[in-house]
Amino acid sequence: MPPSHPPASPVTLASLPRLLPGSTVIAAERVVHLIAGEDFRFTIQTGDATEVIARVLRDCQGDRPLAELLNGLGPAERDLAIRIVDRLRSERMLFDGRAMPTAGIPWRIDIEGTGSLAQQAREVWLGTSGSSCQPADAGTTRPMATPVIRVLVQQDLDLARVLEFNRRQLAGEADAWLWVTTGPLSRGYVSPVLLKRGRPCLECLLRHFRRLSPAPQLYDVLERPGEPAQFVPGDPAEPLARIVLEIAGWKLRRLGQTPAAASQFALHVVEANTLETALHPVWLDPTCPGCGDG
Ligand SMILES: [Zn+2]
Repeated sequence: MPPSHPPASPVTLASLPRLLPGSTVIAAERVVHLIAGEDFRFTIQTGDATEVIARVLRDCQGDRPLAELLNGLGPAERDLAIRIVDRLRSERMLFDGRAMPTAGIPWRIDIEGTGSLAQQAREVWLGTSGSSCQPADAGTTRPMATPVIRVLVQQDLDLARVLEFNRRQLAGEADAWLWVTTGPLSRGYVSPVLLKRGRPCLECLLRHFRRLSPAPQLYDVLERPGEPAQFVPGDPAEPLARIVLEIAGWKLRRLGQTPAAASQFALHVVEANTLETALHPVWLDPTCPGCGDG
């Protein structure tokens, strides 16, 4: 079977292999099972090298070169490990390099969006009521050393805007991005912190919503680019607004800290009527057209 997403370049010993976050590696008899969510399930024939390959895969955290991970392996085990790493890259199960910029440095927060919720976000997170960076000047003047997270704050159902925002971030506007919305009115969402490589994107998330929706055809309408004026934004109830902004603010404040909290990379859903808050894992969609190049 040919690789579904051929990587641009072959794996090298200098590569920093990193398994998809949340992966589980299970050594069983003469195979290794690799599981991440419902879309990624592999059984790898590893024969006598099962324990060795399982150890190498568990060590694929994006922080050590492949050469180091292969230390002490015999020639046959090395060849097998390299073949498996290469194959997993082509399947978007494994990526090269760290997911996050170096920890311990402050991030710059850019906020996009209009309306009362975005205004409140600027006041709470930036201590300003002024407008923030707009898309046109995105990423052109910032010092390279300052990582940037861009946040889209919405209170309408303009999903075309979400996809357009997502595309710009995937193209390199920011180092990470986040979506906060009370557009559905009955609930508020705070997306996972999204990263360019090896993580789900907002299109993955919307495709997930669509699959769960009793009326998926509505997504066709909502995701079609149109005039922003066709959306009538609803001001969220004050408690809902405060809670989603507090959750998002916590995700933003934790960016420079290690270890990262798993819940930073989960979807938070807050019910407007009860304020019940739930966390849901969001998996990379292997067929997502947004981040599909891996
Ligand atoms: Zn995606």
